[in-house]
Amino acid sequence: MQVAVDGNVCQGHARCNALAPEIFELDDWGHAVAGEREVPTGHEEDAARAVRSCPEGALSIADAGSGTR
Ligand code: SF4
Repeated sequence: MQVAVDGNVCQGHARCNALAPEIFELDDWGHAVAGEREVPTGHEEDAARAVRSCPEGALSIADAGSGTR
């Protein structure tokens, strides 16, 4: 499972980092670091919750196919 951060949409609310700090790193301005990243095993639900919680819709599941739980 992968999640993607759209750096053009992210406004730096840092909610994703609060919900899943092991997945979403913040830059010096409090924006999530853009790009795709692998979700560590066992953190799939954290990733999905962060995607739902981003107020800007900047997050997406990049590879939902392998996310079997
Ligand atoms: S919650 Fe959304 S807008 Fe806020 S830092 Fe994360 S990706 Fe960016």
